[in-house]
Amino acid sequence: MNATTSSTTEPRQPLAPDATVVVVGGGHAGVAVLAQLRSQGFAGQLVLISAEIGLPYHRPPLSKMALLEGTDRTSLSLRPEPWYVTNSVTRHVSTRVTHIDRAARRVHLKSSSAPEAIGYDALILATGSAPRPWTDPVNGGGALGVAEGLHVLRDVEDAAALRAAMVGRGHLVIVGGGYIGLEVAATARALGCDVCIVEQAPRVLQRVAPKATSRLMRQLHQSHGVRLFEGAQVVALQREEGKISNVRIRTAEGDLRELKADLVLAGIGTVPRDDLAKDCGLEVGDGVLVNAQGQTQDRAIWAVGDVARHMDQAMRIESVGNAHHQAALVAAAMMARPEPSPFVPWFWSDQYGGRLQIAGLWQSADRWVERHEGGQGHSIWSYLGDRLVAVDAWQAPVAYVSGKKWLETGQYPPPEWLANKDHHIKDWMPQARSSVAP
Ligand SMILES: Cc1cc2nc3c(=O)[nH]c(=O)nc-3n(C[C@H](O)[C@H](O)[C@H](O)COP(=O)(O)OP(=O)(O)OC[C@H]3O[C@@H](n4cnc5c(N)ncnc54)[C@H](O)[C@@H]3O)c2cc1C
Repeated sequence: MNATTSSTTEPRQPLAPDATVVVVGGGHAGVAVLAQLRSQGFAGQLVLISAEIGLPYHRPPLSKMALLEGTDRTSLSLRPEPWYVTNSVTRHVSTRVTHIDRAARRVHLKSSSAPEAIGYDALILATGSAPRPWTDPVNGGGALGVAEGLHVLRDVEDAAALRAAMVGRGHLVIVGGGYIGLEVAATARALGCDVCIVEQAPRVLQRVAPKATSRLMRQLHQSHGVRLFEGAQVVALQREEGKISNVRIRTAEGDLRELKADLVLAGIGTVPRDDLAKDCGLEVGDGVLVNAQGQTQDRAIWAVGDVARHMDQAMRIESVGNAHHQAALVAAAMMARPEPSPFVPWFWSDQYGGRLQIAGLWQSADRWVERHEGGQGHSIWSYLGDRLVAVDAWQAPVAYVSGKKWLETGQYPPPEWLANKDHHIKDWMPQARSSVAP
């Protein structure tokens, strides 16, 4: 971030009451920022430009219930149609912003119905992220798609195509053992598919969860009949009559294996949709770089949700909770209102009827405490020294709720207290014991 970045110490002016705010991207973050601006008293014009058809919708069910049971787009809507009318939001659907003219403060559009360009006083980039493109080691990137049996999962259309392919089809190979891959594996098992997961890292969820969580999830999937290949590489997708028939992999032990595949899901992470920002000269680096208020180096342009990366953070946070928090942060800054409370990242994942809930970021941790929480419940506590940094709770809502609160307040038990299996989480009293500052 360069010297033109606005400073938190500068006095902030609220948006003028007759200003026009243009939001690019109708996902969780884009819609949340519209709602926040209205609830914080913004009376000017709100314009939402969305590349997708129809109303903005919830994405998390696309790998869970909506994939299992099938659903229409309307039932997933983030807000009903009248909400946009009541809140005077002008919506341009099936409309893509192609270019930002920063000097003229205009966005250029590609659409059959919207104007060619719209002016803004403030522009909010909420363009999200896209599935990381698959590069087939043999056939080259871009050569394979749904017609050949290669799927990705981001949009409601992807989910519909994947579901149609999974229903009544035998063998699914999932490339990538992240949350999307694991959730689809669980759903596919419920639909009767034979499922293999191929993960190139030494363990599933390596990027997003501590080892103990990976172990729990590995055991869970194996107990449901999923074959997991960790530390394995895809060597080739083999085709018969144009369709994928086998996935050839090299296992961690160096053996070549052929996995039968009627369809393949590439769940290999995402890339931020930051081209618009990059093309108009804004700083990007795995996302649009923003300051603590969500503002780019151009004072009129902000970024929220999956596409945004705080310049002090090593990675983008991709979650619904983060999208909502950033929306609140940006709206508060635009309206010169007090900032929302500090955010503890939180996430959930539903698999096989159970729920994994996570609060905090585990990556800096150097010690862990594991606890059984009764029944199937399990919690994993990540500490950096004596400082609690994250909790992962499988079927353990009390551990999750307590851990999230402890992270928010900075008052939590030392690891030794949690490691004592005779201690119940609900019994820990902050005032009775020494706590550690956050
Ligand atoms: C299958 C799946 C399951 C998930 N499960 C969970 C979960 O359990 N828990 C959780 O916390 N998170 C989950 N997530 C992540 C969560 O959905 C995302 O973090 C969230 O959707 C981010 O919201 P966003 O608004 O930043 O981006 P998006 O939801 O991606 O929305 C961005 C929108 O911008 C549009 N757009 C892009 N470029 C342009 C352009 N040039 N012009 C106009 N419009 C444009 C896109 O078409 C899209 O509609 C899941 C994601 C997926 C895909």
